[in-house]
Amino acid sequence: MVEAQRKLYIRTFGCQMNVADSELMAQILAPEYVLTPASEDADLYLINTCAIRRKSEEKVKSLLGSLRPLKRRRPQLILGVGGCVAQQEGERLLAFAPHLNLVFGTQGIYRLPDLVRRASTGERLVDVALKREIPDLPQRHWSSDRFQAMVTIMRGCNNFCTFCVVPYVRGREHSREPQAIVNEVAAFINAGGKEVTLLGQNVNSYGRGLSEPVTFTELLQRLDDLPGLQRLRFATSHPRDLSTELIHAFGQLPALCEHLHLPVQAGADRILKRMNRGYTAAEYLAKVAMLRQACPDMALSTDLIVGFPGETEADFNQTLDLMRAAGFDQAFSFKYSPRPQTRAAAFPDQVPEAAKTERLMRLQALQNELTLNSHARLVGQEREVLVEGQSKRSPEELSGRLRTNQVVNFSGPRELLGCLTRVTITEAHPHSLKGRWVPPASTSSMQEED
Ligand code: SAM
Ligand code: SF4
Repeated sequence: MVEAQRKLYIRTFGCQMNVADSELMAQILAPEYVLTPASEDADLYLINTCAIRRKSEEKVKSLLGSLRPLKRRRPQLILGVGGCVAQQEGERLLAFAPHLNLVFGTQGIYRLPDLVRRASTGERLVDVALKREIPDLPQRHWSSDRFQAMVTIMRGCNNFCTFCVVPYVRGREHSREPQAIVNEVAAFINAGGKEVTLLGQNVNSYGRGLSEPVTFTELLQRLDDLPGLQRLRFATSHPRDLSTELIHAFGQLPALCEHLHLPVQAGADRILKRMNRGYTAAEYLAKVAMLRQACPDMALSTDLIVGFPGETEADFNQTLDLMRAAGFDQAFSFKYSPRPQTRAAAFPDQVPEAAKTERLMRLQALQNELTLNSHARLVGQEREVLVEGQSKRSPEELSGRLRTNQVVNFSGPRELLGCLTRVTITEAHPHSLKGRWVPPASTSSMQEED
């Protein structure tokens, strides 16, 4: 008799890298577990955690607490915590939550089948080993309704920015073999895939340490050569390592989208130095100028931290100046949050919470202005859009992204889901654009007129 497949529920916190890791967990456990969208039905409940700021860590602990009644109702349920908080806290998490069965770190994912088997016998266990070698996995299966994919090309980070916990919880940098990446992307395109986002903490240093070193730009070229790939994106790029070669790839590789996420973090050289970022504001802006020259249509997004230890009002104003000079299309901004083991957590001149809050509000007000300006410049233009789903605000509308990454909502037939089509931008809003669908017949007649 065939045993019924058990059910797996995964709750994911954090960045795209964690979303990709949750997919990896499901893939690794797939022979025995099938994903369920309902946590109440789960036989195995995994929480994939983020430790980048204290708030994200607190959310995990509060979710864990709220799962006590479920575990009481279903004592056979295996409850596991994985990812960055698991890596950081290890045994302490088992002590914090007596109903927790399993704690596995950022590389414990690869050992999940064995860990889950042992946990099902009643053993409570922790696996937070960080090993240098990361196994490559059997070919991923892509379902034919999937049109976007995230592909992890490297793990870990060697940079040790003084605010950041990543090198401690994800270990040292390690690149995947290029052929394994090319094969994965080729299989995705063959199954009907359109857009691929390559993931790594610092993709610019991809390839170091491989038996046959390959630069990140060479990897992009090999992927761009694959027939059928429509859109290629990547995150994240470290400004110090952004090469001239990569800058020139924009505008030259047809699939490579005209959008770069280039986290600057701060605008004052003094703060950048204390963050150990390895560039000055002028060097950052010089790279932005090169990017805009190589690819005038380029959209730029960034990450910014306010209230890093020692940040004065004058330093903060330099961040605002840099934002204006770079003209960011989008920014993700955070209050500095001291993290365990990091150097900045021990800096004596921590900024009071109230000052961080006030600076964050000013910074976000400026970014809203910059984003609205960048949206307004698109009004009247006809652009390609990849239709991703329904609009959040009005479900009768479709929603998609431009190659330059802005969200656009428009009315059109539902059959467009997962397809590339064209829209004329009609309105600019603070967080999205509104467009008018250009049906294919009118697109081709426009091209003939050209
Ligand atoms: N690897 C990327 C890079 O070099 O920029 C970013 C990785 S991190 C997951 C994403 C963002 O979180 C960072 O760019 C930074 O702005 C923010 N971040 C990291 N540590 C932080 C901290 N301790 N407090 C506040 N924000 C932080
Ligand atoms: Fe963290 Fe810096 Fe590495 Fe990015 S480059 S993951 S911010 S240490």
